[in-house]
Amino acid sequence: MDLYEYQARDLFDKYGVPVLEGKVARTPEEVEVAFTALNSPLAVVKAQVKTGGRGKAGGVKLARNAGEAKEHGQAILGMDIKGHTVHQVLVAQGANIEEEYYFSILLDRANRQHLAMCSKEGGMEIEQLAVERPEALAKVPLPITGIDEAVAKQITQEAGFDPQIAAKIVPVLVKLWEVYKGEDATLVEVNPLVKTPAGEIIALDGKITLDDNAAFRHPDHEELVDESSSDPRELAAQQAGLNYVRLEGEVGIIGNGAGLVMSTLDVVAYAGEAKNVKPANFLDIGGGASAAVMAKGLDVILGDEQVKSCFVNVFGGITACDEVARGILGALELLGDKATKPIVVRLDGNKVDEGRAILNQAAHPLITMMDTMDGAAQRAADLAAESNVAGN
Ligand code: GDP
Ligand code: MN
Repeated sequence: MDLYEYQARDLFDKYGVPVLEGKVARTPEEVEVAFTALNSPLAVVKAQVKTGGRGKAGGVKLARNAGEAKEHGQAILGMDIKGHTVHQVLVAQGANIEEEYYFSILLDRANRQHLAMCSKEGGMEIEQLAVERPEALAKVPLPITGIDEAVAKQITQEAGFDPQIAAKIVPVLVKLWEVYKGEDATLVEVNPLVKTPAGEIIALDGKITLDDNAAFRHPDHEELVDESSSDPRELAAQQAGLNYVRLEGEVGIIGNGAGLVMSTLDVVAYAGEAKNVKPANFLDIGGGASAAVMAKGLDVILGDEQVKSCFVNVFGGITACDEVARGILGALELLGDKATKPIVVRLDGNKVDEGRAILNQAAHPLITMMDTMDGAAQRAADLAAESNVAGN
């Protein structure tokens, strides 16, 4: 999960990384109030969107009085930055900047280690610096113990800092490592890390990516989830514990096992190509396809207005096909009138005959059974295409 700048700023503050005071505002009036409350001669109004390059896009503006701050709020709120609409801004105390640096810690998966990157030339986009002047960007693989004073010193040396400035940066780098480790982040980036004319070091912009796989260790991270920026269906599925990703198509997909679901997406995309029909989602209900889990999955998919048909593709393993068949019928019973779209089912594997017999006997009007994956995909795609033509 990527955090907003203001959330990263709060975490920095919690670990003692120097930041300037800021307040989140959602209307120009709130921006005005925030400016006054900050009681600072200079403030900066910053778009809160989960993408970089806000400054270049006009999403970061300095204000010297409340009226000016309000005007910036008016201009920035509602702005579109790389496809992200700005719903809130951070109104922060402005810094006097003498120099801008770059610093980040990230999980370098390819090399299976944590990596620190540091440059005396911050502010600009780091990808550009890495390409144009790679020698200006120090890359320091970290020991498993992370960044202590000695490692921080080494990083500042490799980045070419004067010892006098390095001495001020070192404790900040150590604290940023504590954020990275303590919050189970896979990225902590500060661009720019600035030096003021008074010689203070301040993190002026922050980007943090948290490792979702460590969420169980951080109950407080739940508060950081931004429900407004997530798809409501993905959110519902996530809350139901389902592994779901919404796509743009018309054929809902449910399968067990990520590999099977991935190949189901391919087969449906191929089957629907001629009729311009595509898979509507990825949904892996995992090993235990109980009625309750199947009902949650079908509920998410059938409640999606873009879905015209649904393909349930299950290979019986630990959970046998007869249980899956009962799961599907149980789910339809639970959903009642909410279930209105045709469902194509393909069962194979453990106890396939029993599973098919159960569905045959039930003869549910919404269910079509198919023997092969290709046949089922074609049928589901055709049903979705027919419904498109019928205009509903
Ligand atoms: P980004 O463009 O999304 O990375 O947003 P940043 O927060 O990094 O801001 C972009 C640029 O705006 C920075 O590199 C600074 O040059 C400038 N900026 C941001 N905050 C301040 C501030 O408090 N004072 C001054 N003078 N400039 C700022
Ligand atoms: Mn930045």
